[in-house]
Amino acid sequence: MNIKRFVQDTAEWEAERIIMKRYRCPHCLAPGTLISHGRLYGYQFRNHSNRVLRGFRLFCSNRYRRKGCGRTFSVWLAWKLYRSLLNAMDVWRFICGLLDGQAPQTIARHMMINTSNASAYRLCARLKRAQFGLRTILQGLSSVSAIHRSLPWPWLLPYDHLRQLHPDDAIQWLQYQFQKSFFLPSTGTA
Ligand SMILES: [Zn+2]
Repeated sequence: MNIKRFVQDTAEWEAERIIMKRYRCPHCLAPGTLISHGRLYGYQFRNHSNRVLRGFRLFCSNRYRRKGCGRTFSVWLAWKLYRSLLNAMDVWRFICGLLDGQAPQTIARHMMINTSNASAYRLCARLKRAQFGLRTILQGLSSVSAIHRSLPWPWLLPYDHLRQLHPDDAIQWLQYQFQKSFFLPSTGTA
């Protein structure tokens, strides 16, 4: 059994902790070696002085004759995005704005997430790269119907499909449902 890489909230994490010994280490696959190794905090763009819980750290124990590999990895809260101060809901709102034909800078300004043009376009570039992982996921979901409509950029097409499938907070849903990082297509060690 594989340990979850994304959980919805602290309560779900606490439930996972109780049965942690059943899981194998994602690095070395040793069973029963994982132990809790603290919490991960970070800052959010709206309030840099406000520390928020973002995830949990695990250690594959090689101490006291345990046969683990000594490496650590993280289990994230599902709203947390890899290497981003924006949360999943912010990015989803940004994507919906693009799908509705708004300019990246206009959306960013309305959301008060960042006023620089460069940041809004950097986010677009990340989304453009992330579409490849998204396409792979969508291929496995037969319920997506192809609706032909004009989009500002062709790479938005998988996002349009995603919105049909899951109109609300789809990025968080995606990370949790598929246990995959949206901005990092693999389940990697980050
Ligand atoms: Zn290990």
